[in-house]
Amino acid sequence: MNDKKVFNLLGLVFIIAFISCNRPCVDTKEITANELNIKIFDFNVNTLVCYDITKNGVIVDPGMRAIWEQKILLDFITKENIAIKYIINTHPHSDHISGNAFCVQNFKALLIAHEEGLPLYNNVAINDTVFIYPKYDILINEDDSLTFGNQIWKAIYAPGHADGSICFYDKKNKLVIVGDVLFAGSIGRTDFPTGNLQQLIQNISDKLFPLGDDVLLFPDMQKQPLLVMKRCITLIFELCFGCPFFCLQFLQSLFVSGAENSEERLVENGRVA
Ligand SMILES: [Zn+2]
Repeated sequence: MNDKKVFNLLGLVFIIAFISCNRPCVDTKEITANELNIKIFDFNVNTLVCYDITKNGVIVDPGMRAIWEQKILLDFITKENIAIKYIINTHPHSDHISGNAFCVQNFKALLIAHEEGLPLYNNVAINDTVFIYPKYDILINEDDSLTFGNQIWKAIYAPGHADGSICFYDKKNKLVIVGDVLFAGSIGRTDFPTGNLQQLIQNISDKLFPLGDDVLLFPDMQKQPLLVMKRCITLIFELCFGCPFFCLQFLQSLFVSGAENSEERLVENGRVA
């Protein structure tokens, strides 16, 4: 073999090794909570596929951006033969909605969100030239029920991270899908448009804490996909005592209620859709 052939062969080996090392992959985890299977895909956020023994299911926050991410989700749902009934956005931040169009096209399911998030959603849809954002089929409200298979989820409206932030409480399986209302070990960020720290703390305190210490929480962010409520409360109190500003906001939230409506806050932020 002459030098040129050896050189070409080495080049080929290098390219194959490079492609192998950079092969698209995504962290996944599957959790079974009583009757519900929850497959977690770590795309830009935790995208959840929740389904039960009937093989009916929902997708929560499709955060896929790359084609290979779309393929991973599609392959899993096809392999498991899951009939997707709903595609749910817990709130309209771009990393939670970027896969909406792909899911609507491929699963023929209904797209769901809370109506208070519409101005933000439309704003993203207008300004984002990369993704297409289909219209919602169903606008859900507080205490509405979502049913699929043998499961019933109750909607809990909990803005503060963003307008339209909605959680889903599954009483039978003792879990809550919290989106970005809670992070693993912290509360959601409030420095984006329509964020409101006091409102967020109040909603966590009034609507999530009373659900019980042993309820499993499924936040969208961070590798740690679930957290028991009791641990979450402890972490938030630790955060509270470690940060005087947070502590002040927390105490205020216990005594002051009400936040400006979303439209006013959008105007304040200069980001009216
Ligand atoms: Zn968010």
